[in-house]
Amino acid sequence: MEQKIPYKIYLSEDEIPTAWYNLRADMKKKPAPLLNPATLKPLTAEELSAVFCSELVAQELDEDTAFVAIPEEIRNFYKMYRPSPVVRAYCLEKKLGTPAEIYYKFEGNNTSGSHKLNSAIAQAYYAKKQGLIGVTTETGAGQWGTALSMASAYFGLDCKVFMVKCSYEQKPFRREVMRTYGATVTPSPSNTTEIGRKILADFPGTTGSLGCAISEAVEVATHTEGYRYVLGSVLNQVLLHQSVIGLEAKKALDKYGVKPDIIIGCAGGGSNLGGLIAPFMGEKLRGEADYRIIAVEPASCPSFTRGKYAFDFCDTGKICPLAKMYTLGSGFIPSASHAGGLRFHGMCPTLSELYDQKMMEAVAVEQSSVFEAAEMFARVEGILPAPESSHAIRVAIDEALKCKETGEKKKILFGLTGTGYFDLVAYEKYNNGEMGDYIPTDEDIQKGWATMPKVDL
Ligand SMILES: *Cc1c(COP(=O)(O)O)cnc(C)c1O
Repeated sequence: MEQKIPYKIYLSEDEIPTAWYNLRADMKKKPAPLLNPATLKPLTAEELSAVFCSELVAQELDEDTAFVAIPEEIRNFYKMYRPSPVVRAYCLEKKLGTPAEIYYKFEGNNTSGSHKLNSAIAQAYYAKKQGLIGVTTETGAGQWGTALSMASAYFGLDCKVFMVKCSYEQKPFRREVMRTYGATVTPSPSNTTEIGRKILADFPGTTGSLGCAISEAVEVATHTEGYRYVLGSVLNQVLLHQSVIGLEAKKALDKYGVKPDIIIGCAGGGSNLGGLIAPFMGEKLRGEADYRIIAVEPASCPSFTRGKYAFDFCDTGKICPLAKMYTLGSGFIPSASHAGGLRFHGMCPTLSELYDQKMMEAVAVEQSSVFEAAEMFARVEGILPAPESSHAIRVAIDEALKCKETGEKKKILFGLTGTGYFDLVAYEKYNNGEMGDYIPTDEDIQKGWATMPKVDL
């Protein structure tokens, strides 16, 4: 007889993976390397080492090693909040009246409230191991800054966070969580850096952007002895660390013989989705199994569905390397949306290459339909989801409703990346019926593309 699947499939502590999985090892055609924006040549380990700590540079450049051992210290930290559960969404299935089986991997059970802690702790560990004093980074909505503050506190590292000024002012609670963990939080642009002073002089009264916060964080890291810069998404190393999500999810589902037909995740820079799908995509690449994989992005920032696959700058300030990715252009300014973590103009090179190879699909969804899904989910499953995560919920519900029409009993797995306790202004707008949907016009998109590097690569 088939085993009844519990509401929550937990693994034991001992079942936390002992190695991360590097998806690139199984890709025949590898994602393009990062290029030096000045020479247009692939960045060397030496060049990268000025910005990132050496072990992470090695991980960034390694496209052949399939499994990378997780150091014991990191696994011990993981034990404080992992393994995270795979939940069978029985209540949501019932509410929808669908024959589909819905599962979600929940990454919100830690104070940072998202999956970002999985990579923050790894990056802090390698920085400490190298004998560094501290790390710098930028944060927009604040999830990454919070995760890095927690990780830095754990390893006794100094942490300097440049927080986009409008978020710094609008999200005082996130700022205070970071300060409680010992981080210095500076509203960006600030007068503490050369680039910040220049931006303030050129654009007095600006409330900042992620691109300008990145520029400040990189400047401080490269000008301060004993500091390096760290980034919470997009990079290969971040996808590697996030593979812990997919490895755990697969192990849990395998216990009950559940093989998902469809795997869904929201995509900002692509780190949670890249992590969730890693072992499944590995099987797909090796021809051992097939899965439908869907990336969900906001209609306001549609990198996959309306972007170009080309080399582009990773930041607005154009100081970061060029990456080959699906992009709207580094100068594309997405309209205000409440899914701050999905407002990046590009997508990580690995997922971009897989999308180009048609190994995965993408859909763009509008904000109000995302909050409708979030609210339905919260009422039946109990968890208040982050707006970013709710993009995946939207599409999981849509796929389950298609099964209701066809009578198919598909198995759907999606990534629930975090909780929305710090996003209540967004929920307030939705509850008051004041939430708008912003979709860029073709003209807006053309304007973004006009900011891409004028080189033929
Ligand atoms: C940052 C964030 C995302 C998006 O980032 P990815 O790198 O695309 O995973 C999604 N959900 C939450 C809760 C986040 O904080």
